[in-house]
Amino acid sequence: MEYLDLFVKEEDSLLLNTVRKFVEKEIFPVRQLIDDDKDHVIVTEILQKMVDLGLFRALIPPEFGGDGMPSPFSRLLLRTELARGDMGINLSWAVTEWALRPAIMANNKAIMDTYAPWFTGDKLHLACFSITEPHSGCDVENVDHFHGRSVRVKAKLDGDEWVISGQKSLASNSGVADLYCVLCQTDPELEEEGLVFLYVPKDAKGLSFGKFENKAGVQGDRNCDVYFDDVRVPKEHCAADPGEGGKLLRVQLVAGRMASAANAVGNAMAVFEHVLKYTGERIVGGKPIREHSIAAGMLADMAIGIETAKAFMLQCAYMGTKPEIYGAPYSPQDLSRASMAKVYATDMDIMVANKDMEHIGSYGYFRDYNIEKYWRDNKIVQLWLGGAQLGRLDAVRGYYKLD
Ligand SMILES: Cc1cc2nc3c(=O)[nH]c(=O)nc-3n(C[C@H](O)[C@H](O)[C@H](O)COP(=O)(O)OP(=O)(O)OC[C@H]3O[C@@H](n4cnc5c(N)ncnc54)[C@H](O)[C@@H]3O)c2cc1C
Repeated sequence: MEYLDLFVKEEDSLLLNTVRKFVEKEIFPVRQLIDDDKDHVIVTEILQKMVDLGLFRALIPPEFGGDGMPSPFSRLLLRTELARGDMGINLSWAVTEWALRPAIMANNKAIMDTYAPWFTGDKLHLACFSITEPHSGCDVENVDHFHGRSVRVKAKLDGDEWVISGQKSLASNSGVADLYCVLCQTDPELEEEGLVFLYVPKDAKGLSFGKFENKAGVQGDRNCDVYFDDVRVPKEHCAADPGEGGKLLRVQLVAGRMASAANAVGNAMAVFEHVLKYTGERIVGGKPIREHSIAAGMLADMAIGIETAKAFMLQCAYMGTKPEIYGAPYSPQDLSRASMAKVYATDMDIMVANKDMEHIGSYGYFRDYNIEKYWRDNKIVQLWLGGAQLGRLDAVRGYYKLD
């Protein structure tokens, strides 16, 4: 495995190699069992080992007791490595960072001093970033059209406390997370300026959960409805000043879509490694599958897709580090690039997994062959965070104004 030294520093390269070995030792041998791990015994064991390895501490900056966050490039490549092992496990870990980001970016000491120790300690804690609502999936993320009016979960300030009411749905780690970062609207008239991100601990009075969704894949992740019945949290548990919520939502969408690109690249890398080996061993028409030119052409398309998606993802991450040249993190240009990275990588991943199934034939369809899980797990990465269509709308919004 090579990392581009253009993007990855030596110490991050060490971390990435450690994670690759971790995936091969701890995740590969059990990934086939995760679909049937209904009580998350295996999943929790792996996540706890990730705590032991320092992967959760690595999400927290040193000023809040963590080991300091790896660079944006290495954060993406860490997701790629973990998704190569298992998409659901990666999701559980990566979403924890996504949920903590608003407080970290706002340098919110009240939130971080209270909750960071959960994530820097020895015991597993998860966080959930909850923006989706039952009647508002993509519409919540379609900020350029709805400007925050589509968010129905309400928050109002009552003295020194926020009071939250309404329902969220589908978010990763919901029902199992210890901490929830929840997007709320304080006043629809204020549109984006009325949006706030509030942090709610799992044991808050008035917080309750529906049953876990029964999904086609990513069983390492949990999703359910979350109900807020006049849940109260301290005033300081608002990530940033009211008025900044719209910007923060855009920044989070950029981060989520970039992370989705990384997930897709990792999934496709695993599939490609597998298919290279299989097509080198399985004999058809008198020679290994990959010796047939029609198969070699398919393998070339897969390799081209993976390498270009990875390179474009890293290019976008690089451009994100130069806001003075390429646009602020909440600019339409940044969201456009992240959306292109996600759309391209997820379409590519689906193409790669489909071609892989074609190479392997009927055996690829069997659970024993360790491939159909990648083929099932990857579809949701295309569907979440705006899906394939809103992702495309946001991509062109970097080029012209489109309502
Ligand atoms: C495993 C999993 C993990 C998830 N994790 C999280 C999480 O961590 N946090 C969270 O908040 N949510 C999460 N979600 C929810 C997910 O992000 C939403 O489901 C997603 O945004 C799409 O919403 P929807 O399914 O309601 O689709 P809808 O909003 O109903 O959209 C349906 C289709 O319409 C298209 N579409 C949308 N808008 C337009 C438009 N303006 N023009 C044309 N087409 C359009 C979409 O692309 C999509 O194809 C998760 C979901 C799953 C299944």
